Amino acid sequence: MAFKKKLTVEEELEKMEEGEVVEKKEVVKKNPDELTLEDLPGVGPKGAQKLKDAGYVELISIAAASSGEIAAACEISEPTAEKIIQSARGMLDMGFRSAADLMERRKEVGRIATGSKALDALIGGGVETQAITEAFGMFGSGKSQIGFQLAVNVQLPKEKGGLNGKCVFIDTESTFRPERIIEIAEKNGLDSKKVLKNIFVAKAYNSDHQIVLAEKAKDIIKQENVKLIVVDSLMSHFRSDYSGRGELAPRQQKLNRHMHALQKMADTYNIAIYVTNQVMANPAVMFGDPISAIGGNIVGHASTYRLYLRKSKQNKRIARLIDSPNMPEGEAVFMLTEKGIED
Ligand code: ATP
Ligand code: MG
Repeated sequence: MAFKKKLTVEEELEKMEEGEVVEKKEVVKKNPDELTLEDLPGVGPKGAQKLKDAGYVELISIAAASSGEIAAACEISEPTAEKIIQSARGMLDMGFRSAADLMERRKEVGRIATGSKALDALIGGGVETQAITEAFGMFGSGKSQIGFQLAVNVQLPKEKGGLNGKCVFIDTESTFRPERIIEIAEKNGLDSKKVLKNIFVAKAYNSDHQIVLAEKAKDIIKQENVKLIVVDSLMSHFRSDYSGRGELAPRQQKLNRHMHALQKMADTYNIAIYVTNQVMANPAVMFGDPISAIGGNIVGHASTYRLYLRKSKQNKRIARLIDSPNMPEGEAVFMLTEKGIED
């Protein structure tokens, strides 16, 4: 019978790398939200892959696992699994944060003016960073126009309602129009060439592509001073890619991942996220407005601010704030003009 040598934890970690020498890593001081499995001491690319294949994609999922689970999933001993778990816990800031700390972070919240004072007031002074703002409504209700206006306004200095920042625009319906950006910029007295240069547009071809684009946006955010991500529209691809019977559950799972990635970027980089959403009419509603946003609870819960946009006379539009954590429900009237959004 062959004698099976009991490996030490270090040897076993090395074995996970199949003979590759994993350089001893210093635990680099990174933003906790940016740490990945590869940052775990002793775990190299192959070990990280093994963990990922077993379903442990994020540090938090390792930190929350038991050593038995990880040992079984990665075919390693429990002490090694335990070491990995402890490192993951050590790297993540797992504790509670005081409300005072949270308040400090809230103080960094920036706001982008929409162009309409009434609309700004409705949402507490403009579209917030560290949050997802969703606008839903019928065609022509102004969802994309608000996105265009924000893409311009985010570039303004703070005293003019901007954040001195740039914009990432994820276009899923091929409705992004640079001509319209030029028009809005010029009518607002800005240099349209400069404004266009500061908007990074990506066309998403399907829902998976959209998810990847959002996750990839991180790279641009770090290089450029991006302060706003627009997703116009959030649901169109999800709606058409998962239209069959029985596809709702996988759709919602993917959507959940997408919304989490967006929220995480909002928090990590202190940026604003603006998404547009489509509506459906519920024929079962007999009284009141039968229109509601699509995407179900996943989108509803992930959006910090939900605005329901309705058409009124001519270019007048009505925005209703729904379900805000700290603002009363209410309505604001604004105009869609050549200049963009106005009172
Ligand atoms: P959809 O669901 O079709 O994407 P939406 O809510 O995104 O609809 P928007 O593109 O935001 O619709 O709004 C379209 C409206 O914006 C037009 O009906 C018009 O009133 C106004 N609009 C668009 N461009 C201009 C312009 N150059 N000058 C004045 N008003 C404009
Ligand atoms: Mg639109």
